Amino acid sequence: MNILIWTYHRVLPKASSAAVSADEFERQIAYLAESGYKSIGPAELELFFNGKLPLYDKYTMLTFDDGWADNLIWATPILKRYSAKAVLALNTGLMNKEGRTIRKDGNYEIIDSKKALEESVYGKSSRSFLNWNEILDMKNSGLWEFQAHGNSHFGCYSKFGRIKGFFPEKPHWTMEYALGEPPFPGAPKVSFGSTLADKRTVMGSDLKDSLKKASGDAEWTRLCQAHPAPVEILETDEEFETRVETDLTECKKTILETLGVETSSLFWPWGQSSDASVRIAKKCGFKMLFTMEKDIVNRKTSPDSIPRIAAPANFADFKRQMTIYSNSIFRRIKKFF
Ligand SMILES: [Zn+2]
Repeated sequence: MNILIWTYHRVLPKASSAAVSADEFERQIAYLAESGYKSIGPAELELFFNGKLPLYDKYTMLTFDDGWADNLIWATPILKRYSAKAVLALNTGLMNKEGRTIRKDGNYEIIDSKKALEESVYGKSSRSFLNWNEILDMKNSGLWEFQAHGNSHFGCYSKFGRIKGFFPEKPHWTMEYALGEPPFPGAPKVSFGSTLADKRTVMGSDLKDSLKKASGDAEWTRLCQAHPAPVEILETDEEFETRVETDLTECKKTILETLGVETSSLFWPWGQSSDASVRIAKKCGFKMLFTMEKDIVNRKTSPDSIPRIAAPANFADFKRQMTIYSNSIFRRIKKFF
């Protein structure tokens, strides 16, 4: 038997980056319910890995990353209508520190995901994320369970293999952290590496200086690719270990102290981990580690690296993913779809 684990971030009236629309979310949840899927949490997944989950049901797992306030406003009523359960992986550093009121759609200002993350990670405003009273309200609904998504959510430059463009045309909310200074024209956008997976780096100052003096994508690309060591590693093995251990412990402790919930699962920021970070997470007491590697879960899946599928923003793609991943032959040839 296979289990498909879906990853969501936001549910909003209209689809946008990182958000599915509330109508689309309802279509997906209704389809899963009508098709006989039962939504499970990490405890049941652990039973599945141990061969103790009854196999007469079909299972799915709905997971949400970060802790967006829209999860309470738009996703919760839909989960309730279909008696579906979901798992919210909280990044405790992103949580709302500004308010205590439980918001409804009328008093929640919808802010673009990238801007909202930028505001929160640099300590400007955490208004797009849940406050602890809202999280408690979700807990009391009986529809949600809470797991860990770290305490920080930063990315650094790791490799320059795939440059996706340059600031200001291609901004990214973690760029300021990765550069060690506010973004400037010519700062490259890449696939940033999670600081909970690898050692913290910063772009070398000589490369920054030459990018600032140059202009145009062609010249910037050449400078990045020609540089023998574009990033400086800022941590030793011990410093990396201490930082990640402190971060994961802080997340675990905050959830325990505010919700009385002992977390067993860690959903890595951006789904990224490394051998070292997996070892540290297990040392912190996490038994199941979730990635964003696209695949189904079966009895042979390692609890150290549990794959999830990003829930598509439209129904045709959602059904297509279900078809591909529910069929072993399609799954093997999925690269052709
Ligand atoms: Zn995240």
